Amino acid sequence: MEHQPSVAIIGAGPGGLAAAMLLAANGYKVQVFEKHHQVGGRTSRVRLGEYLFDRGPTFFMMPHLLEEIFHSSGRNLSDYVKLTKLDPLYRLKFGNREFLPTQDREQMKHRLEALFPGSAAGYERFMDDHEKKFAHIVPLLQRPFAQLTDYLRWSVMKALPYLHLHETVYDHLSRYFKYEELKYAFAFQAKYLGMSAWDCPGTFSILSYQEHKYGLFHVEGGLNRLCAAMAQVVEELGGEVQLNAPVEEVVVERGKAVALKLTDGTSVAADEIVINADFSTAASNLFAPGVLKKYSAEKVANKKYSCSTFMMYLGVKRTFDIPHHNIYFAGDYKRNVDEMTKHKVLSEDASYYVHNPSTIDSTLAPQGKSALYVLMPVPNLQADVDWNEHKQAFRDSFIARMEQQPEFAGLSQDIEEEMVLTPHDWMAEHDVYRGATFSMAHSLDQMMYFRPHNRFEELSNVYLVGGGTHPGSGLPTIFESAKISTQLILQKQ
Ligand SMILES: Cc1cc2nc3c(=O)[nH]c(=O)nc-3n(C[C@H](O)[C@H](O)[C@H](O)COP(=O)(O)OP(=O)(O)OC[C@H]3O[C@@H](n4cnc5c(N)ncnc54)[C@H](O)[C@@H]3O)c2cc1C
Repeated sequence: MEHQPSVAIIGAGPGGLAAAMLLAANGYKVQVFEKHHQVGGRTSRVRLGEYLFDRGPTFFMMPHLLEEIFHSSGRNLSDYVKLTKLDPLYRLKFGNREFLPTQDREQMKHRLEALFPGSAAGYERFMDDHEKKFAHIVPLLQRPFAQLTDYLRWSVMKALPYLHLHETVYDHLSRYFKYEELKYAFAFQAKYLGMSAWDCPGTFSILSYQEHKYGLFHVEGGLNRLCAAMAQVVEELGGEVQLNAPVEEVVVERGKAVALKLTDGTSVAADEIVINADFSTAASNLFAPGVLKKYSAEKVANKKYSCSTFMMYLGVKRTFDIPHHNIYFAGDYKRNVDEMTKHKVLSEDASYYVHNPSTIDSTLAPQGKSALYVLMPVPNLQADVDWNEHKQAFRDSFIARMEQQPEFAGLSQDIEEEMVLTPHDWMAEHDVYRGATFSMAHSLDQMMYFRPHNRFEELSNVYLVGGGTHPGSGLPTIFESAKISTQLILQKQ
C-alpha cells in the first residue's frame, strides 16, 4: 500500500489551521495539537457570561487571501462565515477633533479638505503611488527567502526601488502629507507590527494603503469564527484537531525531527512537523538543550521584539453611538510611541483603541448591551513593570481616562462582565514570548531572509507558519506564510 505522508502541527492558530487545511486537501494525514481548550490562539474567542469578544485581531483585511485557501481546499469561505464591509474604516480621535476615513475616494477627499485643507491631492498621489508599490511588494510576500541569493531574484530587484528600506514609515508618509495628524492617520498601522512608525521600514506604508484600497471587514461572531471555520474544514477533509493537547518536545534524531512528545507522554511520529506556536517560545522551550544553534534560547533572547498590549474585554449594559473601530490618539503621539518602543516605560498619556462590534452584530451581546474590546499598546516584558502588582490600578486609571470621553461617561457603573489581559498574561497564559503580541519586530535585520525561515533552517523536515516567520505578523501575511510553507512541503513529494 502507498505510504500516506503525515504532518503534525503544533498549534491551532490561524497559521497552523491554514496549513492544516492545505495539507489535508492535498492528501496528507494531518494532526493538529493545540494546548488550549479551543482553536484560534491569539485569534480565539473570549466568552464572559452572555458576551462574546475576539481575543486579538479585529481588523480583517484582504479576505480574498483566505478565500484562496478555502478554494484550494475545495470550499467557499462564504459558506462558513458572514462578512460585513465597514464604512467608515475607523474613527480617529485627536483631542476634540475626529476624522472618519472612508474607502470612498470622493467622500474621503471631501473629509480631508474639511479637516486638513489642501490634503486631497497628497492622498490621491499616495493611493496612485502605492498601487504600484503594492504590486511590486506582493510577490515578495508570496515566496520564501531561504538563501541570501534570493535577494538577486528578478522580482526582488524590480521591487527594490519601491521598498523604501532606508526611510521609515513616518518619513515616507511625510512625502504625501503635511499635517501631523494626517500622517498619523496613515502611520498608526505600524502598530499592527507592534512597531513605531518612526522606526518601521518605509515598506510598510502599504498597510494603510491596503485598508483604503481593499477595505476592512467584520466577521459575524468575531474574527475568531474564521479559525472555527478553518478547523471545521480540516476535520471535513479528514484531519484531526486535538484540543487540550500541549506539545512538550520536538524529538530530534540526527538533524531530523522524528516525533512530537505530548505532555501526557504520548509520542506522535510524523514525516513533517509544522510549528505554529509562537516561534521564540517554541525555540526556547520545545527542543532539548543543544539541538538548536542559530535559534538557541540565548540567541532568541537577543532578538528585537514588538510591543505588547493591555486588554480589557467589557460586557456593558448599554449601547454606544460610535463606529466599529475607534482610535484615541495621545496628545503627543510620538512621545507615547517612543516611550512604548524605545524607553520601555508606560505613558501617562497613551493612545488606545476601542472595538464596538455589537452595534452591527447582534450575536455578541444581548439587546441593548455592548461587548466592548479595549486595547492599549504598551511596552513588552522587557519593561520594568510588575503587571501582577499594577494590573488593577492600571485598569482603574485606564477606565477613568476613557470616562473623560463624552461617549464613555459613567462607563464603570455599567460594566457587568470584564476580563483584563496584561503583557504578563499574554506570556503566561498564551505562550507569547516576552508578551510581544506581534512577534519578533519587523526590522530590516529581522525581515525576509533574516526572519526564521518557512522551511526551518535548523532541521530538514520542520516548517514554520504564523507571525514569527516570513512574511510576518498580521492575518494576511500569516495566511501567506501557510501557503509558502505548505508549498515547500508539497514540492518534496
Ligand atoms: C491583541 C492583538 C490584536 C491583533 N490584531 C490584529 C488585527 O486586527 N488584524 C490582524 O490581521 N492581526 C492582528 N493581530 C496579529 C495576528 O494576526 C494574531 O496574533 C494571530 O492570531 C497570530 O497567528 P499565529 O498563526 O501566528 O498564531 P497564534 O494565534 O499565536 O496561535 C498559536 C497557537 O499555538 C498554540 N500553542 C503554543 N504552544 C503550544 C504547544 N506547546 N503545544 C500545542 N499548542 C501550542 C497556542 O495555544 C495557539 O493556539 C493581533 C494580535 C494581537 C495579540
